[in-house]
Amino acid sequence: MSTTLKNYINGEWVKSKNNSLLDVINPSTGLPVGRVSVGCKEDVLDAAESAHQAWESWRNTPATQRVQYLFKMKALLEAHTDEIAAICTQECGKTFAESKAEMTRAVENIEVACGIPTLMQSVFSEDIATGVDEFVIRQPLGVGACISPFNFPIMIPFWFMPYAIACGNTYIVKPSEKVPMTMTRIFELIETLNLPKGVLNMVHGGKETVDAILEHPFIPAISFVGSTPVAKHVYQTGTLNGKRVQAQGGAKNAVVVMPDADEETTVKIIVDSAFGCAGQRCLAASVVITVGEGAQKLTDKIITLAKSKKTGDGMDASADMGPVISAESKIRIEKLIQLGIDQGADLLLDGRGIKVSGHENGNFIGPTILGNVGEHSEVYKTEIFGPVLSMIHVKTLEEAIALINRNRYGNSACIFTRSGAAARKFRHNTLAGNIGVNIGVAAPMAFFPFSGWKESFFGDLHGQSSHAVEFYTQTKVVIERWNDEWSRKF
Ligand code: NAD
Repeated sequence: MSTTLKNYINGEWVKSKNNSLLDVINPSTGLPVGRVSVGCKEDVLDAAESAHQAWESWRNTPATQRVQYLFKMKALLEAHTDEIAAICTQECGKTFAESKAEMTRAVENIEVACGIPTLMQSVFSEDIATGVDEFVIRQPLGVGACISPFNFPIMIPFWFMPYAIACGNTYIVKPSEKVPMTMTRIFELIETLNLPKGVLNMVHGGKETVDAILEHPFIPAISFVGSTPVAKHVYQTGTLNGKRVQAQGGAKNAVVVMPDADEETTVKIIVDSAFGCAGQRCLAASVVITVGEGAQKLTDKIITLAKSKKTGDGMDASADMGPVISAESKIRIEKLIQLGIDQGADLLLDGRGIKVSGHENGNFIGPTILGNVGEHSEVYKTEIFGPVLSMIHVKTLEEAIALINRNRYGNSACIFTRSGAAARKFRHNTLAGNIGVNIGVAAPMAFFPFSGWKESFFGDLHGQSSHAVEFYTQTKVVIERWNDEWSRKF
């Protein structure tokens, strides 16, 4: 079976104008489960035209009516959670439980965006001079677009899309070409909401599709999530073309463990963070920095727990983690592990060569732990994006913070401690956008912005919450004079 996926443009399912197809591969089996076009400029032109046409009427639809579609969207997605999660697991590899959790985070964003009638409110100053008032109106920009990565096929478009359409923009979603089936199914469901044609569109494809979005004059606002080199390209090209762009990039998240940390909680949370979603979370713990006494005991416990994690097919309820996304990714990660060893790291747990019975062609790598990782080694500097945890030891909290701050990424950083003073110092001094205190995956709820600093983010306003509302609206300042004398004429 191999379905060829279609684009959704102007309320219709249409074939891409590019007939070159890519296989969508189930990373657990190595077998194709669908096909998708590599995409083309013409598809983007059609989607942008349709969204542009729809915008005039959508922006004039009251916000209270626009959000009614979102209330229904929430109920619809919740009713189909298991079905959507199963598709996500099939093409992305993560476990069914992880796919369902992702669905919850997507729906949370719809819930927050349902508050747009309040969130879009602005400020009003009466009598800035006699009989003169001044106020701000938030208005939509036009057509927005998001370009998403493979690792959260459900959730990531929802960091942006519900806010954008609730604010009165029309929208184009560009899923990752590695995992296009999940969003296609979501759009089939969205179709039943009977949104006006052109309000929501989806185009498939890779680089050519993205570059066409970056150039199109009808698309003034672009949200991107993916690796840092592509985030930079999207930010630079989009802004050069006069667009506002928010581009979330890669990560290298450190977790600092103080000697007073609660050992049992810390070990469990670190192992979940490092190896959940096979390490393919942008907030996954990638480096553990132990501080002071007790490092060996903690490391031993992390190894023991990591060893107990079962790697397998995501639909196997007993599996704790699934495969990595592709055969290329597996080779890249295994090469990095070897390079780490060659550059002096100790191999504390080796997940290479793991076999999953019945899934001999799956891209499986088991939990891997490297000790004594050097700050200048490739394995420390590179975003591995796989189930590999590096261990580094330092003497003081100040050294740990300085080490984190020298890293080029700043997506998240966490500390485990019982000391409020240590936690406060860490929160205050660490250069990262999402901070966790006794938390392993510092993922903001939908009503907070998904922050990210340094080379993990290019732009000003982040996804989710009030930031998404600001990003997808422009402010209009109005100064009005109404003289009393004029009304006396009537
Ligand atoms: P990727 O950068 O390869 O792809 C992301 C998107 O960009 C896809 O839609 C893809 O089609 C497009 N793309 C790829 N190469 C392109 C090019 N040369 N020109 C134009 N467009 C291009 O990322 P990925 O491998 O799908 O996802 C993993 C990456 O995403 C990791 O680096 C991870 O850290 C990052 N990520 C970051 C966050 C965050 O919040 N900061 C969240 C999730 C994932």
